[in-house]
Amino acid sequence: MSQVHICEVGPRDGLQNAKHLMSTQAKNAWIAALAAAGLKEIEVGSFVPPKLIPAMADTAEIVAFATKIKGLKVVALAPNVKGFERAVAAGAHKVTFPVSASHAHSVSNVRMTPDQMVEEVRRCAALPHAGVEIEGAVATAFGCTLQGKVDEDEVVRIAVQLAGFCDSVALADTVGYANPAQVKRVFTRVRKEIGEKLEGAHFHNTRGLGLANSLAAYEAGVRSFDSSMGGLGGCPFAPGASGNVITEDLIFMFESMGLDTGIDFDRLLEARSLLVKGIPEEPIYGHTPLAGLPKGFRAAA
Ligand SMILES: [Zn+2]
Repeated sequence: MSQVHICEVGPRDGLQNAKHLMSTQAKNAWIAALAAAGLKEIEVGSFVPPKLIPAMADTAEIVAFATKIKGLKVVALAPNVKGFERAVAAGAHKVTFPVSASHAHSVSNVRMTPDQMVEEVRRCAALPHAGVEIEGAVATAFGCTLQGKVDEDEVVRIAVQLAGFCDSVALADTVGYANPAQVKRVFTRVRKEIGEKLEGAHFHNTRGLGLANSLAAYEAGVRSFDSSMGGLGGCPFAPGASGNVITEDLIFMFESMGLDTGIDFDRLLEARSLLVKGIPEEPIYGHTPLAGLPKGFRAAA
């Protein structure tokens, strides 16, 4: 059992925000290489209307491929009942629902208030879904590009509601506003209310604080982290900024601290070369892949 669990979200969060499209075949090859490097959980796509996000149009095919990889937990995002039904039919092992704590973000994104979105997830949880985990992810939990500040009481309130019928709850810094002090405070507050149901931390690196926020969450007891290879996806409003916290650097941080992630760095770089091959025009990031591992570095395992 690794001491820190990483969920690779590049095939979903990264590609969804990338300027270029990756072919289904290249996605499959990349996902297989990520699994071969030791990643045990991958968010492979999103069941949103293909017209809205063409990059996610092949999600059902990707899920069908990825679920054949032994030992891999295959995650898909769904924004509503229809998306959930497609995810379950495709065979996803886990479905993540983003629920914005920001009223403005929620209405603009899914045309539902946060409370209406909670009810949508509750309806999904009541549908037959044998063997499929449901995660409620509180999105824009640390700030929002539309309304700015997001009330921490509101984040706690939504997390508590989701914990009532979801298998797990995550907190997401969707737009890269979080700072480490805030991360520690909010995770600690939510943990106090819902205990072990609080699992994942999802950070973006828009302002360069992805690693610092991940470490703050670790210190607040979080052991499950989302990240994307090469920080894929970028940020449309911040040229030069990577998307999610970068998988390669996150793994280096934890492994060099003596915390086992179960991931092999050399094989991770092989997966990175497949990512570059699959979407060569897209900028990708990462300090550790560029600098190389330090002399004498030994993985934690
Ligand atoms: Zn995200």
